[in-house]
Amino acid sequence: MKLIERLNEKALVHGVPLSVHLDLTYRCNERCEHCYLEHDDRGEMNTSEIQNLLRQLAEAGVFFLTLSGGEPLVRDDCFEIIEFARALQFNVKLKTNAILIREKEAARLKALAVEQVQISLYSHRAEVHDAITKVRGSLQRTLAGIRVLRAHGLKVSVANVLMKSNASDNEAVGALAGEFGAHYMLDPTITPMIDGGIEVLRYRASAADVAAVFHNSALVGNVEQFCAPPQAIDDSILEGLPCSAGHTACYISPYGDLYPCVQFPLPCGNVRRQKFADIWRNSPQLAEVRSIRAKDLETCSACSHLGSCSRCPGLAYMEGNMRGPSSVDCEKSFLRTQIPSAAMMASGLSQRQAPRSSLVQIQLSQSKNGVASSVAAGQPIN
Ligand code: SF4
Ligand code: SF4
Repeated sequence: MKLIERLNEKALVHGVPLSVHLDLTYRCNERCEHCYLEHDDRGEMNTSEIQNLLRQLAEAGVFFLTLSGGEPLVRDDCFEIIEFARALQFNVKLKTNAILIREKEAARLKALAVEQVQISLYSHRAEVHDAITKVRGSLQRTLAGIRVLRAHGLKVSVANVLMKSNASDNEAVGALAGEFGAHYMLDPTITPMIDGGIEVLRYRASAADVAAVFHNSALVGNVEQFCAPPQAIDDSILEGLPCSAGHTACYISPYGDLYPCVQFPLPCGNVRRQKFADIWRNSPQLAEVRSIRAKDLETCSACSHLGSCSRCPGLAYMEGNMRGPSSVDCEKSFLRTQIPSAAMMASGLSQRQAPRSSLVQIQLSQSKNGVASSVAAGQPIN
């Protein structure tokens, strides 16, 4: 068993929040067409609030800390926060578009021993990447950022989102990442807007493009294995947990709202009003999330894909039922194996026809005071 798996297992047994994803801001210097965020500042936590939160996270046993946004580097205190987090011994990962990373910033990230920098890159062609980010010159600046980070020996992960407009570019982006010596991640999931709007879903890649990715050995490794029919369901699968959200991981917004995951918009408390440890231990919402085993899932528990499906409870929640199927994952299971899911059969749908009108997203807080390649299971990239 790998060290990380052993750590997760121990964290689960002892109820430790091993990983926290903290968005420092929703503001951004790009305007990506598929982005689920609303970019106005609705009262972000200030430096001392974040430092206080980081102290609480350290006390609670958090080790992996992902700092993201929006674009975290638009905050003047971003490096101050990273420095504070490193002094508390967090393993820090930074998600950024790298537009603001030049020699000085890269040297500072290296000096702070940031574990990894994840950078959004949508195409190797400026006309495609810049059209997605809506910032002219953004591709060149992002590539320059990657180059200088790699020159300083930092681990870089290039994160791409498969969309209609860049579907034909993903192999070239992977090759470019390889040239930089960076890890490459491709995510076919586009989530609704933070205000519940589903207009961004129109940028989703076609079923044929997603299927092509799933059958591309450069991206998924062993295609036969990746697209194999699902394994038989046994007790260990039925007793399994849906994912780490709320068990060993959680997400905190720039306004202090805590959710099981960045892609699971179930409000569980607010760190401005409550201690982090109180929310983590006593939130009824987290207790409910933690009570769910695969055997409790409506429809999914009787689905042949249960053991291999990437089913995201957050996406299921956005469709109205955290115990229900996630149509995006039903589609992925189908496109991998050509075997319809239980949900598709129950509704008489074939593919890509799942209803989306009931999707919701994270409600904005009124409170003032997250060279190898992989296909992501569904974590949004921003
Ligand atoms: S993205 Fe979905 S499957 Fe992944 S950890 Fe979050 S809630 Fe779970
Ligand atoms: S394929 Fe669909 S119904 Fe089957 S387990 Fe996955 S989300 Fe549930």
